[in-house]
Amino acid sequence: EPVNIVVIGMAGSGKTTLLQRINAYLHERKTPPYVVNLDPAVAKLPFQANIDIRDTVDYKQVMQEYNLGPNGGILTSLNLFTTKLDQVLGIVEKRAATTKYFLYDTPGQIEIFTWSASGAIITNALAATYPTVVVYVVDTPRTASPATFMSNMMYACSILYKTQLPFLVVFNKTDVVSHEFAANWMSDFEAFQQALMRSDEGFMTSLMSSMSLVLDEFYSHLRVVGVSAMTGQGLDELFDRIGDAVREYHDEFRPAIQRQV
Ligand code: GDP
Ligand code: MG
Repeated sequence: EPVNIVVIGMAGSGKTTLLQRINAYLHERKTPPYVVNLDPAVAKLPFQANIDIRDTVDYKQVMQEYNLGPNGGILTSLNLFTTKLDQVLGIVEKRAATTKYFLYDTPGQIEIFTWSASGAIITNALAATYPTVVVYVVDTPRTASPATFMSNMMYACSILYKTQLPFLVVFNKTDVVSHEFAANWMSDFEAFQQALMRSDEGFMTSLMSSMSLVLDEFYSHLRVVGVSAMTGQGLDELFDRIGDAVREYHDEFRPAIQRQV
């Protein structure tokens, strides 16, 4: 049975670069993936997408036609594409016997996918057919301050609850900054509190220290891995964790989905 890997994350976190790296990694292992690009606004893709939203919708034309700004244009393009989702699912099903991994790149602006009807329709439709894993990419060097780190983790938390799918937090760009500090903050509550004290967040500190207590519970349900999309470091472990997530899909998520239908 194939696995859907949906890559989401803040703009610039490295989603597209990571997808390119995963693509190369799987080609080397003689299990070429099927790649779907859902970002209508990407100028140039560093890999060959098998299905590309840009082939069906021209987001600049959509902007003009409907008199929209960039975000409205991307969202409307995604909506137009979603009306043809059954065709995509048909292709995936045909390919399922010979393809192990289906990879989905999503728009640079994270909320367009995670907080739109289309994004929810797409992830739900995928999860209803095959094991589906959400890979949440974090820009590690840009999340090194306790305040940024916590808001990023709260965002991850909200996506976990919204999608209700097996979830993997991938700390990217470890060639620049190791993700050790993050792993440490997530496993050792006091280490994070101490980092908070040392940082100069003023009145926010007490609010953050209460919120970090809540996050501590969230962390215990989380899989974490550090990678560099640039160098390929951490890819073996990434696939180990994806394997764990797929097992979790079978144990917990599929029974839940089947109860819903
Ligand atoms: P996206 O908006 O999430 O798709 O991000 P991109 O994949 O387009 O990457 C944004 C920027 O981060 C680009 O300049 C990449 O070259 C850079 N980048 C991505 N991954 C890495 C990484 O692992 N290490 C370093 N040093 N830079 C990276
Ligand atoms: Mg991208």
